[in-house]
Amino acid sequence: MVYLSRDNVEALLDMPACIDSMRSAFQAVASGNVQAPQRTIIRMADRPGAFGSMPIYSPGFGSAAKVMTIYPENHDAGLASHQGFILLFAEDHGEPLALIEAGSVTELRTAAVSGLATDLLANPGEVTLCILGSGVQARSHVKAIQCVRDVTRVQVWSRTRGHADRFGDWVSDNSGLHATVYESPEGALAGANIVCTVTAAKEPIVEADWLREGCHLNAVGAFIPTARELDTETIRRARLFVDSRGSAVIEAGDFLIPKGEGVIDEDHIVAELSELVTGKVVGRQSAEELTVFKSLGMAVEDLVAARAVYDKAVAEGVGSKIE
Ligand code: NDP
Repeated sequence: MVYLSRDNVEALLDMPACIDSMRSAFQAVASGNVQAPQRTIIRMADRPGAFGSMPIYSPGFGSAAKVMTIYPENHDAGLASHQGFILLFAEDHGEPLALIEAGSVTELRTAAVSGLATDLLANPGEVTLCILGSGVQARSHVKAIQCVRDVTRVQVWSRTRGHADRFGDWVSDNSGLHATVYESPEGALAGANIVCTVTAAKEPIVEADWLREGCHLNAVGAFIPTARELDTETIRRARLFVDSRGSAVIEAGDFLIPKGEGVIDEDHIVAELSELVTGKVVGRQSAEELTVFKSLGMAVEDLVAARAVYDKAVAEGVGSKIE
C-alpha cells in the first residue's frame, strides 16, 4: 500500500487527464456500473463545519471512501478548508492499495467536472470567463475552463477584496491571462459568457439580470438545502443540469429554494451529466439560452481520479510505502 501526498497527486494528474477521467466516471454512471449510497454529511451544530464520508464501488475501478472535514473559516488559521483522505481498495481481492491526500484530488476533480460540463454545454468561441470566489476552486476552475475553451479575459469578484487581488495576481502568473478584479459580482459578470461560482456563500451572489445572453454557468459552491449562490430567477430561466438528481433534490439549495417557492418542480432538472456525456439528452438547444450546471460532487469522481493517480504512481514508482 502507498501513501500519495498532495505533491504526488499534483505531479501525477494534470487537468486534461483529469477531465478525461471524469468523462470515464460519468460513462460508468450512465452504464449503471456504480454502487454508491447517498453521502453522509455531519453539519456541526456548534461551529461552521462539516464532516463527510463518501463510499463507493465500481467494477473496473475498485472501491474507495473519501473522508473529509470542511471548515470554511480555516483560511484565517492558515489551513485549507477541505482536508481528508481517500482510501482506495483493489477490485479483485479488496486489499487496500493507497491512502491519498483528498484536498488535491477534490481540487482537481471538481474543476475537471465543471470543465467537462462546460465543454458539453457552453457555446463555442472566445470566452470571457467570470470567476466569483478566489479560493482553491477558483484557481483550478481557471485551469479547467482553459482546457476546453479559448479564454481571452478573466473577470473576478470575491467577498474579500485582498483575496480577489491575490487571486488576480495568481491568474496573471499562472494562466498567461490578465484578470480584472471587480468590486461587485454584477461588475464581474458583465459580458461574461462562462461563469463559475466557487464560494461558500449562503445567499445569492448571482442575479439573472446580470447574466449575458447565452452564457453557461457552473454553480459549484453551495452544498446544503439552505444555502445557494444563484437567485430564483436564474434557476427559473436556466436549462438546468446536475451531476446527480438524487443529490440535487435533497442537498442543493440552488434547486430546493426555488422549488420551495413554487417557481419550479423536479422536472426543471433537464438531465444529469451522465446523460449528456452519452448523448442521450441534448444539452444546449440555442445560442441564446442560459445553461446552468449545478455541481455537488460525487464519490465516483473521487474513485476514478484516485484510481488514475494510483495507476500512474505504480507505473512511475511514486509514493511512500505503508507496511
Ligand atoms: P475555499 O475555502 O478555498 O474558498 C472559499 C471561497 O468562498 C472564498 O473565495 C471566499 O471568499 C468565499 N466565501 C466564503 N464565504 C462567503 C460568503 N458568505 N459570501 C461570498 N463568498 C464567500 O473553498 P474552495 O475553493 O475549496 O471551495 C469553494 C466552494 O466550493 C465551497 O463552498 C466548497 O464547499 C465547494 N466545493 C464544491 C465541490 C463540488 O464538488 N461541487 C467540491 C469542493 C468544494 P473570500 O476569501 O474572498 O472571503
